[in-house]
Amino acid sequence: SSNTVSAAPILTKLQRDCATPLPVLRHVADAMAADMRAGLAADGGSDLKMILSYVDSLPTGDEKGSYYALDLGGTNFRVLRVELGGKEERVVATEFEQVSIPQELMSGTCEDLFDFIASRLARFAEKEGGKFNSPQGRTKELGFTFSFAVKQTSINSGILIKWTKGFAVSGTEGRDVVVCLNEAMERQGMNMRVSALVNDTVGALAGARYWDDDVMVAVILGTGTNACYVELPDVIPKLHGTKSGSGRTIINTEWGAFSSGLPLSEFDREMDAASINPGEQIFEKAISGMYLGEIVRRVLQRMAQDARLFGDTVPQKLQMPFSLRTPDICAMQQDSSKDLEAVGSILYDVVGVNSDLSLRKIVIDVCDTISKRGGRLAGAGIVGILEKMEGDSKGAVFGKRTVVAMDGGLYEHYPQYRRYLQEAVSELLGPELSKNVHVQHSKDGSGIGAALLAATNSIYQ
Ligand code: ADP
Repeated sequence: SSNTVSAAPILTKLQRDCATPLPVLRHVADAMAADMRAGLAADGGSDLKMILSYVDSLPTGDEKGSYYALDLGGTNFRVLRVELGGKEERVVATEFEQVSIPQELMSGTCEDLFDFIASRLARFAEKEGGKFNSPQGRTKELGFTFSFAVKQTSINSGILIKWTKGFAVSGTEGRDVVVCLNEAMERQGMNMRVSALVNDTVGALAGARYWDDDVMVAVILGTGTNACYVELPDVIPKLHGTKSGSGRTIINTEWGAFSSGLPLSEFDREMDAASINPGEQIFEKAISGMYLGEIVRRVLQRMAQDARLFGDTVPQKLQMPFSLRTPDICAMQQDSSKDLEAVGSILYDVVGVNSDLSLRKIVIDVCDTISKRGGRLAGAGIVGILEKMEGDSKGAVFGKRTVVAMDGGLYEHYPQYRRYLQEAVSELLGPELSKNVHVQHSKDGSGIGAALLAATNSIYQ
């Protein structure tokens, strides 16, 4: 019908603006590697912060005993304990609990928030038994995953720079969050202390590495995105010669802030301008789960306005930012029926419109354009990291089996995105090098990863 015909030029232009042919991917990978080097040379030298994790001993599999983890990164926190049995027995048992944080504590005082967390943690720790047994009188140790901006100063200290995600706790910015938690645990009369403060990506790397020594990179693709990797202290100029014990450390890239040479459309620019952090997290806005659906919505809104895609008026629901979510566009892409029945019902439910086959096809083409670009750019970013690593130690990455551990809801649930990501990695590396690089899903390693890092940084070792 005529409305889809007049929308066609908008689609064609979108596909051109968002195209990721090999030369574009090559350029992105090279720029990622160059930005990584700049970020390692000096703080503030690059879009990529390249944050030191102070993790210089990675899990080996030999760890033994009971360890705890606390994951605070949103409106819920999770507490977990794991009993490690060494190389043979590995993870003997795990237990976890999820607790939602009362709204008033999210904008209360530092003491109130951490007292609440510590009280729940104490209750959880009291129920230790069965397969778990911390020796009597011995201090229990905890890995603390804290997914807010901190300036880490050692493996067990970090200054809070900024609360985000709806938190506005008074009197915490500028304070050491490990001290806050340790003091709160003391007030509860607990014999427990924080042995490791870890970023969630770093936890994911440690968790995956525990099972597989060849894991060198971890990538999270969920609501947002981030990546970290195993680095040689010798090639980190901003360390100024400080040596790590094992000769290896983990660098948290904060790659969501990357921005060089990305194929962006007017819709990306408009979404960025309307966001709460304009000009920031440009890579994240092109590849992560929070944004893919919103980009598609903006394209469809334009098609409705300029090409009357949905008739004389622009559907009300389509005008609402973030009304189309990434799981919706993912669900539409799973429809393999001849008349795209499922696409029709999602458009009816989410946008409130009836659609014919030609309209459904256009919508699918828009979804595919955006998920394809996202997956391929994420793949190029991964290759950039691998090439940076290989550049500093020839053969260490491509000359042997190397694993990239992937986690996050977007990667886990979006098969087309996953396939596009893998294709970009294979295209960039070529058939020979691709044989050595394994991009693998590693589900929820970050919780156990934090407990493992508490074990590798234990005061009793
Ligand atoms: P986090 O919010 O901590 O990143 P997850 O790793 O679970 O948590 O990722 C959740 C995100 O994954 C959602 O915001 C969404 O963007 C994406 N996601 C979840 N389910 C699906 C799905 N079925 N299809 C595509 N993306 C999904």
